[in-house]
Amino acid sequence: MAEATGEFALIRQYFAGISSDSSGEGIALGIGDDAAVLSPAAGRQLVVAADTLVAGAHFPESIRGGDLARRALRVNLSDMAAMGARPRWFTLALTLPEADATWLADFSAGLKQDVSVYDCALVGGDTTRGPLTVSIQMLGDVEPGGALTRAGAKPGDSVYVTGELGAAAGALTCLANATPDEYEQALLSRYYLPQPRLAEGLLLQGIASAAIDISDGLLADLGHIAQASEVGAELYLPRIPVFKGLAERHGERRALGWALAGGDDYELCFTAAPENRPRLQQLLDSGAMQAAEIGKITAGNGIQCLDARGWVADMASLFPGGENQPTGYQHF
Ligand code: ADP
Ligand code: MG
Repeated sequence: MAEATGEFALIRQYFAGISSDSSGEGIALGIGDDAAVLSPAAGRQLVVAADTLVAGAHFPESIRGGDLARRALRVNLSDMAAMGARPRWFTLALTLPEADATWLADFSAGLKQDVSVYDCALVGGDTTRGPLTVSIQMLGDVEPGGALTRAGAKPGDSVYVTGELGAAAGALTCLANATPDEYEQALLSRYYLPQPRLAEGLLLQGIASAAIDISDGLLADLGHIAQASEVGAELYLPRIPVFKGLAERHGERRALGWALAGGDDYELCFTAAPENRPRLQQLLDSGAMQAAEIGKITAGNGIQCLDARGWVADMASLFPGGENQPTGYQHF
């Protein structure tokens, strides 16, 4: 920003002290110097991810500051979840069209709220003027060799997904609605405040053969597992956990299309080998995590969807008019 004194005051006011009670451990030097100095826990591997949210492409320009802060943080936390990592620290590169005090206070409060929930700390960043953009870089850690990757799925493994899918895509139909009803509010809250599956990611270490978080849509993201693992997959459409009420409200085919290709749900899709099924089943039975078995990894390539009769589903009919194409969202 042009007015330097204003910039430093702004950083102090809105970005200092954004950490949970316990996440300060390991921060040798935080915000205020040229860079932060961090002491990773001895014997752990660092896990690093970054995600940028651009106004107009990833969220509506009219978004509240708190919602944007929390969504940007949670999207990055979801990457930690997909790796089976524990989040620790993050940096924030914020580009603002103007320094609106009310908006910034809301942004800062939202961030503060979520760092307590997810036990991490803001350790630095950059603040510039321009079109509204938030870029977060997240640092987490795992036991050496414990990270979940996309590359370990084998033919015969089962495919699972946590939670329910399709709500975030459904929310896109009511983003501009100034007076959303109760159901639309539930959809909007899934869109603005995804639930990073951090506990699930940690529990899946030693159980999942591959994992990914669903940002682009189930078909696209399972496709990434298939590609990285050099396998194929079949999905059983009747088993896809579609967000409750979505089919009643928007029709079965549309709801299923959103669940398969909508994106932005930030659930985990993972695979598990037959020998790990009993351990996984224990987690599911005890309520430690919620996930549905939705398919199998095959020796082929590509993803095939099977209907209730076990026949290969006609995908074109699920995406009328090319809506929500199963390739997922692509920027380029
Ligand atoms: P430099 O000119 O050395 O890059 P800056 O003026 O960009 O320094 O930042 C000063 C300090 O404030 C640095 O410690 C930086 O990490 C921190 N900082 C700047 N913007 C943010 C932000 N949006 N969130 C958190 N820390 C920030
Ligand atoms: Mg800087």
